[in-house]
Amino acid sequence: MGMKENNSVKVNCGWCGKEIECPDDMLKVKKHMCYECFKKVGKEIKLKKPEKVHIDIPTKELEEDVIKKY
Ligand SMILES: [Zn+2]
Repeated sequence: MGMKENNSVKVNCGWCGKEIECPDDMLKVKKHMCYECFKKVGKEIKLKKPEKVHIDIPTKELEEDVIKKY
């Protein structure tokens, strides 16, 4: 239909290697991180370049937890 769909692709977490999903519009970032690793090292990433990392965060966790940190 010509419209861009919200597809996601399988990628691997750059820290632990776990398979996660990444929206295809996020594929331009260099690294992907699963939520487990985000909980461990997310603060470090935030201090560096958070825009370069896609983090696979469950929506409900995002609402409860992440928004207040960011
Ligand atoms: Zn991971």
